[in-house]
Amino acid sequence: MRPKRVLVKLSGEALAGPQGNGLDGATLTALAADIAHASHEGVEIGIVVGGGNFFRGVQGLNKGLDRTTADSIGMLGTVMNALALEHSIEAAGAPARAMSAVPMPSLCESYARKRALDHLSHGKVVILGGGTGNPYFTTDTGAALRAAELGCSHLLKATQVDGVYSADPKTDPSATRYDTLTHEDAIKRDLKVMDTAAFALARDAGLTIVVFSIAEKGALAAVLRGEGRATYVTP
Ligand code: UDP
Repeated sequence: MRPKRVLVKLSGEALAGPQGNGLDGATLTALAADIAHASHEGVEIGIVVGGGNFFRGVQGLNKGLDRTTADSIGMLGTVMNALALEHSIEAAGAPARAMSAVPMPSLCESYARKRALDHLSHGKVVILGGGTGNPYFTTDTGAALRAAELGCSHLLKATQVDGVYSADPKTDPSATRYDTLTHEDAIKRDLKVMDTAAFALARDAGLTIVVFSIAEKGALAAVLRGEGRATYVTP
């Protein structure tokens, strides 16, 4: 795989390190180095970052918050991660620009498709915070949406496992890993590649979804060179 432009979905936990929440300096530095390396190899990279290391909307429901307020707090968490990634990627030597789907112009640029395309064409890594900008969605759906509208051929879903398995490999020793699948296979076998809304959007847009583990050093650059272990879910 040597795509021109990709969208990477990073969950908030990818920035959290061993403690599992908040931001971990060493984890951020390593991740940013990997992203900067991949960018230097000439791939245009958009990143949609989650916020689960700070807050997920469902957590707010247990605290007596209504869904819209809880999701607003969740979206703010994703912008915190976008700002941290912007700084860390620039410190790693690649130009980067954070954009938020929820306008907060004193903190970062507001998301606008043509501005994002302009940054990408100038080699900047564009980090998209705020998900879709609406409650009742996830950043997986935001990732599928931005991948489609920014003309990305591949949606790379960074996870803690190296692909899609027939069952959860952590609990089922008989789980087998797929190298390739079609969108139809994933539906027929009821495989959870992404959440339902995100998967439907990715499928409609004809995106190839690449599920890979971000845990190893250099994982992103390796996958973009076609060398890393991953499951390819194709139209
Ligand atoms: N969120 C939202 N709309 C979006 C994307 C995210 O309201 O378009 C909120 C939602 O509450 C979600 C939280 O932001 O739980 C963090 O995003 P997500 O759970 O997708 O983060 P991840 O699990 O990838 O870290």
